[in-house]
Amino acid sequence: MEIRVSLPLDSDGFLRRQCPHCNGLFKWHDGPANEEAENADDPTGYHCPLCGRPAEPDRWLTDQQVEYIEGVATPAIARYADDLLRNAFKGINSKHFKVKMTGHLDAPDEPAALVEPDDMMIVVSPCHSYEPVKVPEDADGPLHCLICGTPFAV
Ligand SMILES: [Zn+2]
Ligand SMILES: [Zn+2]
Repeated sequence: MEIRVSLPLDSDGFLRRQCPHCNGLFKWHDGPANEEAENADDPTGYHCPLCGRPAEPDRWLTDQQVEYIEGVATPAIARYADDLLRNAFKGINSKHFKVKMTGHLDAPDEPAALVEPDDMMIVVSPCHSYEPVKVPEDADGPLHCLICGTPFAV
């Protein structure tokens, strides 16, 4: 089974992220921001703009996104299990032997879709200027390049 969850972007195409080390919130641009970014190699990890520490690309979900993904996945899994049970019972019905399944497994409702506000300010590192990030307005530098982790002042 496959569960698709889409996370919202702000109106500039930025996705909210949370650092697994310092829990700081920032945003990165979802998908290549321009041609130069498109031609660059996919990095094996990213650096937190706030603390500079690296982590793999899939480790940056915010608490809210984790909660949302679990909220979407749980009812989907419950529906899937319900279908499996129903099909299993169908198979053992025969003239001599009847099994009836009544009711459904309890599936919680899906959560309301996340909304991404247009907050934070765009900053660009001097070394990898094709990967802009957004950081909270009150972030006091130095900030770190998302791609290579080099500190820079804003
Ligand atoms: Zn961090
Ligand atoms: Zn860099």
